[in-house]
Amino acid sequence: MYNKFQEYLQKELAQIEADGLYKNERIIESPQGAEIMVKGKKCLNFCANNYLGLANNPELIEAAKKGLDARGFGMASVRFICGCQDLHKQLEQKIAEFFGTEDTILYAACFDANGGVFEPLLGPEDAIISDALNHASIIDGVRLCKAQRFRYANADMADLEAQLQAAKDCRFKLIVTDGVFSMDGNVCPLDKIYELAQKYDAMVMVDESHSAGVVGTTGRGVTERFNLRGEIEILTGTLGKAFGGAMGGFTTGKKEIIDMLRQRSRPYLFSNSMAPGLVAAGIRMFEMMSETNELQDKLHANTDYFIKEMVAKGFDCKPSESAICAVMLYDAPLSQKFAARMQDEGIFVTGFYYPVVPKGQARIRVQISAAHEKEHLDKCINAFVKIGQELGVIK
Ligand SMILES: *Cc1c(COP(=O)(O)O)cnc(C)c1O
Repeated sequence: MYNKFQEYLQKELAQIEADGLYKNERIIESPQGAEIMVKGKKCLNFCANNYLGLANNPELIEAAKKGLDARGFGMASVRFICGCQDLHKQLEQKIAEFFGTEDTILYAACFDANGGVFEPLLGPEDAIISDALNHASIIDGVRLCKAQRFRYANADMADLEAQLQAAKDCRFKLIVTDGVFSMDGNVCPLDKIYELAQKYDAMVMVDESHSAGVVGTTGRGVTERFNLRGEIEILTGTLGKAFGGAMGGFTTGKKEIIDMLRQRSRPYLFSNSMAPGLVAAGIRMFEMMSETNELQDKLHANTDYFIKEMVAKGFDCKPSESAICAVMLYDAPLSQKFAARMQDEGIFVTGFYYPVVPKGQARIRVQISAAHEKEHLDKCINAFVKIGQELGVIK
């Protein structure tokens, strides 16, 4: 039986490759950081979500080791059967304090948090109004839920209002948005979304995965940026990006919502509890966030410097309020050639083109980190200038 299926898969895979869409993985031979080793060569990494540079932080490694020693390797159970450890409750509390919310529920990943948030809360008489550029996990989560679906163009408030009007007869309405959209680096206009939510009696959910630790003076995310701490019903996020980059996801917000998720959210009920070592490191991470603002300050300074320099050199960068800088090239083959040449220069960046971004909107996405020193940023900028001139992108 496998012969036929194998043939089918081989053909499909060959087509993916012929379309230039085959994803080859880079093998890193070092810890994650500003400098990484690939094929025995030192390179600078500008495409990780390691925004605060915590992926190889000694204090977090130490905290994880202590957690392993104190509470063991694994939980070997879902929460509703064996319960959880004191550490899990502490981490949930820390996350709620960080975001100014009432309670938090942990998941194995934010993909699970988003996959398990809609179905237990909303039914066929309700409406989910979702930004067109929301993350894949939100799209999948919405698919699992019986609520009616409405979609608005990215950050387009006129369209959001039209969709709210279309949904006005629904029982409950939930507007859903990413905090930062990962391809452009734009922040969702949460102030205006919140106003519309008030006007049309809707609730709001923000996925803070790319914004937590990054956006807002102290990195508390988009609710800090727009002075809406504690006002948004549901926030989801990940421990896999700015917050150390290991694993773990969460939903945080109104108490009753979190309570209901503990009763009915399937990825919580039927998937393992987070490993104690990661939970212990997570607790330490949120403590560090409240002890000093050094990393957030450095990230913001790095991002400002990088974008200012790139624009001064003649590059067309999308306006960004996050640590994502989209360097627009528009042409798909050019974006791939540019990224490959950057790699020759020892700089890792990723070129994106259709269908990941709209047709004719190909770009290089640069992700800045607090782990980058000025010399790293300059090396990256110099490589951009060199390749940009070589490929006729700048003069
Ligand atoms: C990365 C990301 C996720 C998934 O997070 P994991 O914890 O890695 O599963 C979800 N939503 C958004 C917006 C993301 O950027």
